Amino acid sequence: MENEIEATGETPDDQVDIPAHLLAGDGQPRSSMLLRLLEGRSAKQVLKIPGEELGLAEHLPYPFMALVGQLEMRTALLLAVVNPNVGGVLLVGPRGTGKTTAARGLSDLLPLIPQSVCMYGCMPEDYESEGPDGVCAECAAKLERGESITRLASVQLIELPLNARLDDVIGGINERVAIQQNRVRLDRGILSHADRNMLYIDEVNLLGDEIVDAILDAAAQGQYTVRRGPMRATYRSRFVLVGSMNPEEGHLRPQIMDRFGLRVTVNGLADPAQRILVYDRIRAYYANPRAFIRTFEEETHLASEDVSIARSLLPSVALAPDAQALGLRLVQELSIHSHRAEFTMFEAARAYAAIDAREEATVDDLRAVAPMALRMRRSEFIEQFFISQQGEDMEIDGLFARLHGEAGDGA
Ligand SMILES: [Zn+2]
Repeated sequence: MENEIEATGETPDDQVDIPAHLLAGDGQPRSSMLLRLLEGRSAKQVLKIPGEELGLAEHLPYPFMALVGQLEMRTALLLAVVNPNVGGVLLVGPRGTGKTTAARGLSDLLPLIPQSVCMYGCMPEDYESEGPDGVCAECAAKLERGESITRLASVQLIELPLNARLDDVIGGINERVAIQQNRVRLDRGILSHADRNMLYIDEVNLLGDEIVDAILDAAAQGQYTVRRGPMRATYRSRFVLVGSMNPEEGHLRPQIMDRFGLRVTVNGLADPAQRILVYDRIRAYYANPRAFIRTFEEETHLASEDVSIARSLLPSVALAPDAQALGLRLVQELSIHSHRAEFTMFEAARAYAAIDAREEATVDDLRAVAPMALRMRRSEFIEQFFISQQGEDMEIDGLFARLHGEAGDGA
């Protein structure tokens, strides 16, 4: 069947939706490798896609490199892949703006890292720092025999479905084994599978409280313990959290909001040419996902190489002293209390420089990432709280002085 999709035309002006902090002083996009990575290669226009295959698109993510516009969202996601220390990304915006598509597409670019082969997530460094008690008995024995407990594997994008039950999230008794074999076996949960991977949660603001608590607990400790009757298991759970939410559908609890390092507001594209490009690409993708993905194979491969290079450069990237001083003043002037604000901002600036193949993160890098790291961190409530607390402290101190004076008078 001859059913070809062909998209031609002018490349839309990719600068239309670029936020000011991602522009250089002259109003042009900053000339950086990151920008070339995101924009230079995505100008591809001509698509000849045979339309006979109706694949199951959800198992073949839409390529990250085929996304159009949304520069800030793509930048934030790449920074989180390059430097897990930025502490994840929250995408905030209305439905249908590509948040989930972008997050799922990231799986193409995730690097190879040493991953534990053990279900408890034991790593050689746990053994080095804590000795045999730092790992499970089986891994301790393996390490003592000189065997490896890791293998090189790609970071995975693990999705936490909205309808997940607590047992799915933290693990629990395998009911099938319990019924069929009359014995108790604990299954590991999604949070354990997410160890050293990325955890993606769509509509994160609609999660139930007990699941949010389990995620916060795991995120804070890097591990969690499941108890079921006499059985008890502790799993490692160190993950980069990526969440998306529609602000129309309820707010996010402050505790989980604070867990997201970078925050991106995602709007629909303003440029009609970009919207047409999105339409053409999505049509081509639905018509034949495999062929569409092949069209972007080379870009994807080059970008994932860039990510790996940036990750290996990252440890030697330093933040310039003037950038550090400016960043701290910014946090102070904005009355942001969470220390995660500057931590995220500085780590994101280092990642930005690493993608640009530089060993020093400058004020310019800081400017590019500051809004993503600092927005949605101020709290009216906390400000009021501190002001009223100050009043109370003065009252206590004044009362103390008065009573002390009276006691002194009596003596
Ligand atoms: Zn182990």
